[in-house]
Amino acid sequence: MTDLARLLGGASAKKLKDHLGITLAGELLDYFPRRYAERGELTRIAELPIDTDVTLLARVVKVTSRAMATRKGRITEVIVSDGLDGALDTISLTFFNSFAAARQLTPGTVAMFSGRVGAYRGRLQLTNPDYVLLDEASGTDASAEELADRPIPVYPATAKLPSWKIAQSVATLLGQLDLEALTDPLPASLRAQYRLPGIAEAYRMIHIPATAQEWAAARRRFQYEEALVLQTALARRKAQHSLLPSRPSPARRGGLLEAFDARLPFTLTDGQRQVGETLAAELAADHPMNRLLQGEVGSGKTVVALRAMLQVVDDGGQAALLAPTEVLAAQHFESIRRTLGPLAREGLLGADDGVEVVLLTGGQSGGERRRSLLAAASGEAGIVVGTHALLSENVQFADLGLVVVDEQHRFGVEQRDALRAKSLATPHLLVMTATPIPRTVAMTVFGDLETSLLRELPAGRAPIATHVVGLLENPSWARRIWERAREEIDAGRQVYVVCPTIGESGEDEGDLEPLDEAPPGGSASGAGQERRPAASVTAVLAQLTGEHALDGTRLGVLHGRLDSAEKSAAMDAFASGATDLLVATTVVEVGVDVPNATLMVILDADRFGIAQLHQLRGRVGRGGHPGTCLLVTSLEPGHPSRARLDAVAASTDGFVLAQKDLENRREGDILGATQSGRRSTLRLLRVLRDADVIERARGDALAIVAEDPGLESHPALRDAIDAYLEPEKEVFLERG
Ligand code: ADP
Ligand code: MG
Repeated sequence: MTDLARLLGGASAKKLKDHLGITLAGELLDYFPRRYAERGELTRIAELPIDTDVTLLARVVKVTSRAMATRKGRITEVIVSDGLDGALDTISLTFFNSFAAARQLTPGTVAMFSGRVGAYRGRLQLTNPDYVLLDEASGTDASAEELADRPIPVYPATAKLPSWKIAQSVATLLGQLDLEALTDPLPASLRAQYRLPGIAEAYRMIHIPATAQEWAAARRRFQYEEALVLQTALARRKAQHSLLPSRPSPARRGGLLEAFDARLPFTLTDGQRQVGETLAAELAADHPMNRLLQGEVGSGKTVVALRAMLQVVDDGGQAALLAPTEVLAAQHFESIRRTLGPLAREGLLGADDGVEVVLLTGGQSGGERRRSLLAAASGEAGIVVGTHALLSENVQFADLGLVVVDEQHRFGVEQRDALRAKSLATPHLLVMTATPIPRTVAMTVFGDLETSLLRELPAGRAPIATHVVGLLENPSWARRIWERAREEIDAGRQVYVVCPTIGESGEDEGDLEPLDEAPPGGSASGAGQERRPAASVTAVLAQLTGEHALDGTRLGVLHGRLDSAEKSAAMDAFASGATDLLVATTVVEVGVDVPNATLMVILDADRFGIAQLHQLRGRVGRGGHPGTCLLVTSLEPGHPSRARLDAVAASTDGFVLAQKDLENRREGDILGATQSGRRSTLRLLRVLRDADVIERARGDALAIVAEDPGLESHPALRDAIDAYLEPEKEVFLERG
């Protein structure tokens, strides 16, 4: 009986399905109001975003009706106001041939209107909006007195399915279901401890609240429930993994690791040493390591990972390093072989004083790929570096002891599992992220992993100076940038120029991060403004080829649409100094390490997110020469998107920036970007705002799982976890 058609009737059910994709009772119950309107509160009209579906509460001030000039019929124009007395406090509603509107919407009437905001002759307008008079808005058939001070739920709605129609459907549904039969996923003791309403009551209070306190209490409950479900899922995962057998790889005396340490050209930072000790101990244990290593850009995570890999290789096992892009995989492969020097051997069967390192990517030629596959499967290769290709089913390892995932934000839980499944004993797992993540995000996204931090940069690292270059205020800089690049090249250094798009085919790289909602509310005039196309690799290369200041310099290009051979040729040419200036997309964002590069020019930098800009600029200043990053923008000073650039220019602390980033961006985007392959948004929780709820829930979840790992005494919580992790399977009614 979860089918809505039977509970609500075909017409309503069809609307819910067509406009909201809702087909099941549980989905509708879980479709919560976005906010609640109070009776006295009218919507601030000046803040309505153009070209957006809105629901607004307003009072009719004037109604006029006239015959249409060019057609038969009448136009009724209704002016409604939010009563705020500003220049923009009214909006015009236009109805064509609506006698009902002309009759019902008399001056003084307060109603909810729903439609898409347009602009007509400099005034905001809704055309043929749907509306409901206030006392009908809550969707119940309660009496007028009862309704007098009820908050009105405002659901995320569309022009075709206004909020109050959703409210009516929900009210009907609530009347049909036996909510008392639901079992509550929240353990009674926790509910009592935090004074949270039970599930049946909470559903009523969130949809049909009698008072503001009611919906607030219901919301707190559902937030906590969401946090607890997620944290329990993670805690259980963590507990389950820690019980699996793994391949213990204790450090061996006189092995490759010792030889490697002896020939390391620098001393490890304190952080690297400490993390190294933690990893060494965990690799030696007979349960799998599950660790997240967060490190500032340039903090030297690769060496830490390589040392862990060598410990496993010393014990006769294999290690896999998984990178998010081909460029990065190829670069890791090269740099690992370079760093290992004589300790890396190349396919010399029989030699036992070195490790064979192989590369495995999707873009390799058939022969290369077969050789790598064979080396991995036979166990000849001690270290296998690769991309997603490593996850494919035909990749086999002889004895995989450790999986290192670099730049985790592009890999999801499933992918981690796929790699782990490649070995009989569960391999140890080390996940590395270069973008520092605030604690509660880490808890939410990587809550099944232990965390280590590398905050410190190696000594002698030159600082990176970051400047915002506003071309609107300083047009002369459009030239000056390239003179500056020339100075760098003349001094023997190299330059990156990063563009948001590739250009030509019009199709984008697709690796731009989703940004904050721009422009944010408050400037109706700015909404819908066309932005000019962003700088593209193709156009910029053409421009720079003719740029006088760069005469005689060697330019290269790198972007995602090149094939692998072209990509590695471009990267090699830049790494070896054969090109002076590389015009690229964000493929250079992660991990790329060319110490001689000292200047990075990011064009239309306002198109990138904070984390991305911070990552990008970490590519310069790696070789002991000071680095410079120019964030070039054509936006006017004070534009909200420029605030991001100012933030990046003002701080080089990745953790500070990560926090800022989170404050500025839409939540789903942050989690979506980090959490591919899993449910990508939190429903009611906000990782920043609700940090305390998440922390509390984590503590509670760990306690629950410690006491009852199988959740035997919490069947409803266990079901809720299954539903949460696989939202397409509705277990709602089984819960009853
Ligand atoms: P990230 O943490 O951003 O991945 P990398 O591992 O790429 O950083 O390291 C950046 C650079 O710093 C590399 O060239 C590496 O060889 C160098 N490096 C790493 N550790 C140290 C150290 N302790 N002292 C000096 N240089 C180091
Ligand atoms: Mg790295």
